[in-house]
Amino acid sequence: MASDADEFVIDYWVTGACDMECPFCYGARRPVSKTIRRKDGKKKEIREYVPSEETIALTNSTAARPEMRLEQAKYVLEKLHRVGARTISIGGGEPLVRTDISEIIHFARSLGALVYLSTNGTYLMRRYSDFETAIDVLGLPLDGPTVEVNARMGRRSYLLANVEEILRYFKCHPPIHLVRVGTVLSKVNAQDMMAIGNFLFRNSAIRAPDVWRIYQFERIGRGRSNQELYKISDAEFNDICRSLIAAFPQANIRPRSNAAHKDAYFFVTPDGVLQIVDETHHISIADLLTVDQNHLVNLLSLHSHTSIKANLNRDWLDDHIRYLR
Ligand code: SF4
Repeated sequence: MASDADEFVIDYWVTGACDMECPFCYGARRPVSKTIRRKDGKKKEIREYVPSEETIALTNSTAARPEMRLEQAKYVLEKLHRVGARTISIGGGEPLVRTDISEIIHFARSLGALVYLSTNGTYLMRRYSDFETAIDVLGLPLDGPTVEVNARMGRRSYLLANVEEILRYFKCHPPIHLVRVGTVLSKVNAQDMMAIGNFLFRNSAIRAPDVWRIYQFERIGRGRSNQELYKISDAEFNDICRSLIAAFPQANIRPRSNAAHKDAYFFVTPDGVLQIVDETHHISIADLLTVDQNHLVNLLSLHSHTSIKANLNRDWLDDHIRYLR
């Protein structure tokens, strides 16, 4: 029988490009766009990533690394699936800025993985029909009940309208996948959490999410530079989450504290590096484009505690698997 560590969740950041600039973002690093000329003479835009110190130490190279092409992404996903990645969470950056995102999603699904798409919603309604039957969970963000609170959190002014439009659409056209709304809880929106709950769960105009994930603000990525503004203590985070769970007993509310985030993810960067995470940094552990499968298996066994924590972090997904498949 497979142990908890044999099957695990990966978070594939398909790109670092995003239309938003959230001050607490700890997703993929921003790419540098570059125009190259193809063999047929036509120009092509590519995205490259300046390697982190960790990646330089791992690869012995300071050269910028291009975003994985579709074939490379498939190669890496298949390699990871073969060694136990049974849930593939697709995020970024904003994944829908990739023109081939639908192919990536369908490929992940064809492997038999549970597919979780995390998007900020900006481009969703334009592309949803391309992949709606191939995802198991759709994740959307919402950090305030009003445009003003979302803006104070650093989100774009259009976020609330987009998320509301999507949830209204789901009310009329119930999706066959789960819907998760994620909120970053910080000092800035701590007083607004009840109002977000009312918007999500006492609002007959929209389809309420199946899961409300509440993330404690983290001092990682851009959040490291902005921690003075956003930082919230463990005690305050726990108190607010407890109050929300009591106020909305019908809702499936799943808080994720900083402690639950630490060492609980396997990230695949847009340029194909496998990373884990501590309190403040992402740590590169393998170049997935070149690593030998046996070495990858050994590495993963050294990080079996990460697999177990990653699975625990997504245990709310397990509750639904029987229903979904
Ligand atoms: S929408 Fe998400 S990926 Fe884009 S900047 Fe904000 S937190 Fe980062």
